[in-house]
Amino acid sequence: MIALRASMLLRENGIPAWISAPDIMPPFETGVFVGGESFVRPAREILAATTAESLTPETGWESTAAPDIRRLDASLAPDCPGCGRALPMDPGLTQCPACGTPANVTERLLERHGPEVFVSLYPDDSDDAPEAALANCHVVCQCTYPLDGLGTTGRCPECGAPFDKRVVLGWAKRSL
Ligand SMILES: [Zn+2]
Ligand SMILES: [Zn+2]
Repeated sequence: MIALRASMLLRENGIPAWISAPDIMPPFETGVFVGGESFVRPAREILAATTAESLTPETGWESTAAPDIRRLDASLAPDCPGCGRALPMDPGLTQCPACGTPANVTERLLERHGPEVFVSLYPDDSDDAPEAALANCHVVCQCTYPLDGLGTTGRCPECGAPFDKRVVLGWAKRSL
């Protein structure tokens, strides 16, 4: 089960939940934290009622080839911020081929679909997640401090807890 999706599901159900590296303080083996003892039981019930399939990307999960956004489904192609046309899935693209507006396909994909869109491109134990994509991922510390814009690994500026965004996002199982 992907902790990020699980925590989103819990928040949709009104339970304060967030994710962090599984070895910091895990009430759940998935690395999902909930906001207090009274939420643990309802959170477990919600997650138990949710099939693992519905939390797992359907395509490409078993693939272990090198990450490449050209392998993403064409229907995910983000639109150009200038003219609105679909951008080609080209990781090297710097501007829209139609109107010339500066555009980074990887960043636009993140904005539109969130970091989960890249999960299918990485094998479980990959260390190759792009630094830029990780820096822009919306990941929060166990103290709820947002880690956006910070490096792949480090310590939370607010509470000092160590984090590894690859672990938080389920891209790597390695502990800190
Ligand atoms: Zn354009
Ligand atoms: Zn913190």
